[in-house]
Amino acid sequence: MSAQHEAGVTTTHRVVVLGAGYAGLSAAIQLASRVKRSENVQVTLVNAQERFTERLRLHMTATGQRLAELNIPELLEGTSARFVRGWVTAVDADAKTVRIDDERVLPYDTLVYGLGGVADTATVPGVEDHAYTLNSAQDAEVLADRLARLGGGTVVVAGSGLTGVESAAEIAERHPELNVVLLGRREPGAAMNPKAKAYLRSALDRLGVRVRSGVEVAKVLPGAVELVGGETVPADAVLWTSGTRVSPLAAAAGLTVDEHGRIVTDTTLRSVSHPEVYAVGDAAAIHQGYGVMHGTCQGGMPTGVHAALSIVRALKGKQPKPFRFGYYHTPVSLGRHDAVVQFTHPDDSPRRLYLTGRVAARYKETVTASPWPTWGRMKKMPASGAFWPRGGRFTQVRDAR
Ligand SMILES: Cc1cc2nc3c(=O)[nH]c(=O)nc-3n(C[C@H](O)[C@H](O)[C@H](O)COP(=O)(O)OP(=O)(O)OC[C@H]3O[C@@H](n4cnc5c(N)ncnc54)[C@H](O)[C@@H]3O)c2cc1C
Repeated sequence: MSAQHEAGVTTTHRVVVLGAGYAGLSAAIQLASRVKRSENVQVTLVNAQERFTERLRLHMTATGQRLAELNIPELLEGTSARFVRGWVTAVDADAKTVRIDDERVLPYDTLVYGLGGVADTATVPGVEDHAYTLNSAQDAEVLADRLARLGGGTVVVAGSGLTGVESAAEIAERHPELNVVLLGRREPGAAMNPKAKAYLRSALDRLGVRVRSGVEVAKVLPGAVELVGGETVPADAVLWTSGTRVSPLAAAAGLTVDEHGRIVTDTTLRSVSHPEVYAVGDAAAIHQGYGVMHGTCQGGMPTGVHAALSIVRALKGKQPKPFRFGYYHTPVSLGRHDAVVQFTHPDDSPRRLYLTGRVAARYKETVTASPWPTWGRMKKMPASGAFWPRGGRFTQVRDAR
């Protein structure tokens, strides 16, 4: 029985969505659009800032490019959802409450947990003290300020995953006066087909990015990066993009989490330990036939929509359906005029098909700008949000329990 029933005060079902990223906003808009004529469901979206953080463009923020002002309350206009600005400091899964900024308490009947993930700054010594990150818009702005002031010297981008590649390319293009070194264990574009990977590498060469793969950072020092083996690479600024870390709130609340702290879900995106909690986006460990989904916007938005659909079904006394998702592309920007788009099988392995150059750059820009039209359509026609590739035979769903 829900808290409000026990208290006998109201029969409103309170859904609290934590995190207004790509996944949380998709959940809130989908749910609030579907239930807007009902007085019995209240959707509350909580986020640290009122401005939407376009994570997909944080490497642009880090190079001083101005992004559109996207205001979360405005994005919710036309739905019944209300917005609460604040920093979530605790979830009490027994009392079913969320604590915000340590003094406000929000009770919930259903929780959607979408607090995202950031680069892991805790594992390698010196990262917290001496490296910059793209973990928030403010962090990216601090780096932009540093890069603008340098006037010359070396920037080390640590982490040769796609965020590292996009950042190194963007910095090299925007700051030709700087030497950019991209360091990482794997070669850039390692998961792409050989031709797409070769294109990506030649673009980095063209932009003057010095790539060092097969190396691991042991320590970040003031003014240098120390590699495993002892070599030091001088650096006037270090951008750390390696590893992922999620908020410790889910684990602290006693929810079952995986080794990265992500909430382990069943096939319908409910927490395996607390079925009144749905987990979406980068904060969730979601099993598919090919393994656990990795954090992307292309998969994050469908998880939010699916959680909303599951909540609507559960409120009607129906069983939520299993979530299925298959990847379809990996678009990587290489500065503002070039990109590689690797088309993929549903399990994210590369297909032969890929795009390069200006066509790929336009494709990437279209994808990056697509959440707003998607949410706009969803408000008018909620069913339009439920179209994404289900992955066919690649996504035979197994329950994680
Ligand atoms: C530079 C860069 C480029 C990328 N490019 C791509 C790409 O091309 N394609 C792709 O698919 N993915 C890309 N990604 C990954 C993508 O951004 C993430 O997978 C996506 O943002 C996950 O969405 P989310 O909603 O789970 O989390 P987020 O978008 O991170 O949203 C989480 C929200 O929760 C808020 N929050 C966190 N903790 C708290 C708290 N305690 N209290 C209140 N609010 C809180 C945050 O402020 C944020 O608004 C990129 C990432 C980066 C950094």
